[in-house]
Amino acid sequence: MTFEYAKYLDGKDELKDFRKKFYMPVLNGKPVIYFCGNSLGLQPVKTKSYFDQELEDWATLGIEGHFHGKNPWLTFHKLFSASLAKIVGAKSFEVIAMNTLTTNLHLMLTTFYRPTSKRYKVITEAGSFSSDRYALSSQVKLHGLNPKKTIIELKPRKGEYTLRTEDILKQIEKHKGSLALVMMGGVNYYTGQAFDMAAITKAAHKEGAKAGFDLAHAIGNIPLDLHKWNVDFAVWCTYKYLNSGPGAVGGAFIHEKHTKNKNLPRLAGWWGHEEKDRFQMKPIFRPTPTAEGWQLSNTQVFNMIAHKASLEIFEEAGMKALVKKSRNMTTFLENLIKTHCKKEALYKIKIITPGSIDERGCQLSILVQKNGEALFQKITEAGFVADWRSPNVIRVAPAPLYNTFQEVYKFAEFLSEWCVCLK
Ligand SMILES: *Cc1c(COP(=O)(O)O)cnc(C)c1O
Repeated sequence: MTFEYAKYLDGKDELKDFRKKFYMPVLNGKPVIYFCGNSLGLQPVKTKSYFDQELEDWATLGIEGHFHGKNPWLTFHKLFSASLAKIVGAKSFEVIAMNTLTTNLHLMLTTFYRPTSKRYKVITEAGSFSSDRYALSSQVKLHGLNPKKTIIELKPRKGEYTLRTEDILKQIEKHKGSLALVMMGGVNYYTGQAFDMAAITKAAHKEGAKAGFDLAHAIGNIPLDLHKWNVDFAVWCTYKYLNSGPGAVGGAFIHEKHTKNKNLPRLAGWWGHEEKDRFQMKPIFRPTPTAEGWQLSNTQVFNMIAHKASLEIFEEAGMKALVKKSRNMTTFLENLIKTHCKKEALYKIKIITPGSIDERGCQLSILVQKNGEALFQKITEAGFVADWRSPNVIRVAPAPLYNTFQEVYKFAEFLSEWCVCLK
C-alpha cells in the first residue's frame, strides 16, 4: 500500500467534495490533519451565515421573530427531527433536540429508572464516561439506594480490552428478577467498541428491564436503528461527529411505546406541555405525546443554529454513504498501522478497538505501552490533531465527511517511523 494508492482511493471517493464544506483548523500557519471529530467536529462553512440570519431576524423583528422569522423560533426545535430520525433510525416524533447530553440523561433516568424493592439493579459498562457514572450513581442515591450495591459494572475478561456480547448477555440473565435497567454507551469513548444494542435491548426486555444508550460517540458515526431495536431511550450530544459546535444542543430518543404514555413520571416544564394550549398557562401539566413531551424550556435558538447547518450536510451525504467510507478509511488505517512497522522498538503499541467493522465506528484507540505521552507529543508537533486519553491511549478518528485517505496514510507513515510492530 503506497501513497499513490491513497491518492487513488481519494480520487474515487464519492464524498470527496464534502471536505470543502468545512473549515480546517490551522496551526503554525499550516492546516492541521484533524482526527479529532470524535471530540469536537469541525465547523461547516455555512454556519456563520445561519447565525447571521437569526441575528438579523432578532434585530429587525424582535418578538415577532417567534412567528415571522425565516425559521420561526416558536417551532425552531422541530427543524431537526426529520434529519435526526434518519441518523438514529427513529420516527421523527421519537426524537428531540434539547438541553445537553447529561441533562437529557437525567431526564430519561427520572422516567425510566423506577426501582422497586425487588427490581432495582442497573447494569452498565465499567470505564464508561465520567458524566454517565455521576448521573447514574446520583440517580440511584436519589432513590435512597447504595450505588455500590445497585450498579453492576461489566469488565472485559482478564487480558482483554473490550466486552464480549455473550458476557454482557449472560450478566443480564444472571440478574434477572432484580434488574431494572441496562444503560450503556453505544460506542465506548475510550476503546471505540460499538455495542450490539439490538441484542442488549432484547436481553434486557426478556428479563423485564429497560434498555437505554448514551450515543455520544455513536451518533453520526455508526448505523443506528433505535426504533426497530426497540430501545427504550437514548441520549446524545451533537458537538462530536455531528459538528454542531462546542457545547451545542443535545438530543434524546424516546420510543413510541413510551411517548404515548402520558402517565409516565417525568420532570416537566411548559415546553413539554401539549402544544395546542401551551400558552394558556394552565396549572395542570399534560405532556405532548411525542419526545417533545420531555422538553423543559423554550427553544435555545442560538445553541441550535450550528446544528441546523450541520444536519443539512448529513442529509445531503446520507448515513449509508458515510458509514461505507468510514469503514473503508478506518480499515485502511488499521491495515497500514499493522503493516508499516519497523523493527526496533521505541514504543510498543496495540490497537485495542475491535477489529470487526460491526463492533466499531471510525475511531481507533491505540494503546501505547510505554512513553505514550512522549509519542503523542511528537504526533502533535508534526501537525496531527488526535487525542490522548490517560493512562495510555491515543484516539484517532478519521471522519468520513472531511478526512481523506491521504491524511490517513500520512498519519500511519508518521506513526510507523516512531513505532514498532504491533504486539
Ligand atoms: C462527550 C460525552 C459526554 C459529554 O456530556 P455533556 O453533557 O455533553 O457534557 C457524556 N457521555 C459520553 C459517553 C461522552 O462521550
